[in-house]
Amino acid sequence: MHYPLLIIGAGPAGYVAAIRAGQTGIKTLLVDRAELGGMCLNWGWIPSKAMLESAKQFARAKTLQKFGIEGIAAGQLSFNWATATARSRTITDKLQRGIAHLLARHGVTFLQGEAYILSPDKVRVGDQSVTFERLIIATGSRPQQRQLPLQHVPLCEIDALWQRQEVPANVAIIGTSPTAMELAQMLGLLGHQVHLLLPDADFLPMLDPYLSEYAGKLLRQTGVAVHPQSEIDEDSPGQIHIRSNGAAQVIAADLLINSENRRAIIPGSDIELTTENGFLRTNKWFQTNVPTIYAVGDVNGRLPLAHAASAQALNVVNQIQGVDVELRHDTIPINLYSDPEIAQVGKTEVQLQAANIDYRDDSFPLHVNGKALSEGEVEGFVRVLSGRKYGEVLGVQMVGANATDLIAEATLLMHMDGTVYDIAGVVHAHPTVAEVFQEVGLAGSGMPLHK
Ligand SMILES: Cc1cc2nc3c(=O)[nH]c(=O)nc-3n(C[C@H](O)[C@H](O)[C@H](O)COP(=O)(O)OP(=O)(O)OC[C@H]3O[C@@H](n4cnc5c(N)ncnc54)[C@H](O)[C@@H]3O)c2cc1C
Repeated sequence: MHYPLLIIGAGPAGYVAAIRAGQTGIKTLLVDRAELGGMCLNWGWIPSKAMLESAKQFARAKTLQKFGIEGIAAGQLSFNWATATARSRTITDKLQRGIAHLLARHGVTFLQGEAYILSPDKVRVGDQSVTFERLIIATGSRPQQRQLPLQHVPLCEIDALWQRQEVPANVAIIGTSPTAMELAQMLGLLGHQVHLLLPDADFLPMLDPYLSEYAGKLLRQTGVAVHPQSEIDEDSPGQIHIRSNGAAQVIAADLLINSENRRAIIPGSDIELTTENGFLRTNKWFQTNVPTIYAVGDVNGRLPLAHAASAQALNVVNQIQGVDVELRHDTIPINLYSDPEIAQVGKTEVQLQAANIDYRDDSFPLHVNGKALSEGEVEGFVRVLSGRKYGEVLGVQMVGANATDLIAEATLLMHMDGTVYDIAGVVHAHPTVAEVFQEVGLAGSGMPLHK
């Protein structure tokens, strides 16, 4: 078999590259050892977001009386884990069918099997060998697997979590990532006693410290116990013995969920592909040390997010078709689907200070916004970091019920190199939560209105 383009991995990096390649007339083979959609669709963001939504609805149901809704006894509410995961599976199935349809429509061949790279122009998939002109590696990542001294408390990987019929009342999670934070809060909202074990001092290191502190506060409000710099010494039935900041503690846990930092999944290969910190090293065009072999998505370690993976994939296919515009990573938003949600785009204060940039910091709270008040979702704020001299927007951070959608306005603005004067000049509909952007734009322009 010969294909001009071969793609290994059918997650949001690989399948997006395949669809675009097919659309532009490149005969493409897409290979995956598992199912279409990759981690993202099968056990990553889709199941986790669907389950988070269930948890948020469960928590909100307890507060409905204040909206005038009677007849719901909070004490009678219970949560059925199996029903909620079944709902998430229907979403995955629907999206998977959509991808299969698009691949077929654009003439992409999908082959299930483990890919092994034999040479710079040949791959083996099962017992077939395929030659190619260009190869895109999009094989993703998995949580780091540490040797933990556990004999009684089972260690659960995230994919297995969504297969369970139920989750025990006492759970521990290990990790410092957005996923660890989201899982901890989700289980906390569902009434579990959750311990979050942070292996390092840093919590959510990719976020501005202002946001990571806020996330810690949200976890504590949900009843999650956060243990910084913790190490596991041993376990006993239903208990894990840890040391947090050097102090010994015993926590109740019948399950430990692994949400550790991620490590690249690099396909087996007879050729040497250069790595850096365990990820495939690429240049700004996502080429590996073999120029006709690209690596996109989690496997290159640049930004472990589904939308970053897809953007890199599109960028590579565009290049192959002669459109070489460098992808900007600085305007890719980072979202946390916590309750309320957290979103960030652009630079953090730490980065601005390290670069010696003179900036100002303006924020506006949600608790004075009319729509937020009427929806009963008043926790949060929008915060804009802008250049002191020209007002260019350098970073935007937001906490709020729909922050992960609202950040799109800031993302577009930053993509177009906008200023606080641009935000201030855009008339926002009333009442909307998005009005807080205009307010903070006015504040950043030195003309605050509702302040
Ligand atoms: C619980 C959870 C929640 C998440 N939530 C979000 C979120 O809200 N937003 C967000 O942007 N990101 C989220 N992510 C991260 C997101 O899922 C990843 O960034 C994204 O899936 C990376 O896409 P990818 O295509 O690079 O890799 P993957 O989606 O991991 O796909 C890689 C594919 O390669 C295949 N493969 C690997 N090796 C081989 C081989 N040798 N041969 C054949 N096939 C192979 C695998 O089977 C897999 O299907 C979450 C992740 C998790 C775990």
